[in-house]
Amino acid sequence: MPELPDLVYLETKLAEYLSGREILAIKVKQPVVLRILLQEGFEKALTRTRFTKIHRHGPFMNFGFENDCELVIHPMLAGRFMYAAQDANTGKGLCFSLYLDNGAALHYLDDKKMGKAYLIPAGRYEQIPRYSQQGVNILSSDFTLECFRKLIAGQRKQVRVFLMDQTRLSAIGNCYADEILFDGRIHPKTFCNQLAPEEVDRLHQSINTVIAWGIAEVERAQQPLEVKVRSHVKVRNKKDMPCPRCQTTIRRAGVLGYDTFFCPACQPAKRTQFIDWS
Ligand SMILES: [Zn+2]
Repeated sequence: MPELPDLVYLETKLAEYLSGREILAIKVKQPVVLRILLQEGFEKALTRTRFTKIHRHGPFMNFGFENDCELVIHPMLAGRFMYAAQDANTGKGLCFSLYLDNGAALHYLDDKKMGKAYLIPAGRYEQIPRYSQQGVNILSSDFTLECFRKLIAGQRKQVRVFLMDQTRLSAIGNCYADEILFDGRIHPKTFCNQLAPEEVDRLHQSINTVIAWGIAEVERAQQPLEVKVRSHVKVRNKKDMPCPRCQTTIRRAGVLGYDTFFCPACQPAKRTQFIDWS
């Protein structure tokens, strides 16, 4: 799943590869991922038009075209982009390919077919689920400590659930939620209203530090677009491996149906509702 650092890299690379390029032909293999909110069909609207601006909005990747339509892709859990030759072996999950005027193609793949590609009149985002409900962009100057304190104040959710609430923070996924909590030394099941003020401030700092680190690592790896760069992570998917900080065995637990990975020594659980039966 592309997370914020992956999407930042994708945004840069896609803009570099696609800006000004003309689409000569289109092949759709999985129409089930398409949501066409235009009168004309997908192929007709996009053939013989040029890419203009490519930009990210939370987990959505937006592709503008000179003919005033816009393609908005929400990759969800398994959507991937691939920039390769038109006849490249894309492996499993190909949904559609846009053939470009330089002999290359943008392939969009999704093994689970959960992601969606919306074709809309430019700027008409209101019909895209969750698009307009994105919370504060954590990479923007709006994401101040003051802003974060206000967002978390009064929250009764578990802190990991709060971090992944895209209507508040746009946008943190499973991998970086675990890395942020590890950095901040906070147990993933801690309730937000149990956090001390200094822990709230530390959590804000950890979001900034960890996301900036993720962006730098993905950028440094310079992998093809379809490759998920995770070699730098410290706790995510590291069950039974030693904590890189204290060597304690990393554990996995479930939080609202999602797997979370943490170090029980670095991230101790809070004692809650201790009942003295004596
Ligand atoms: Zn540890």
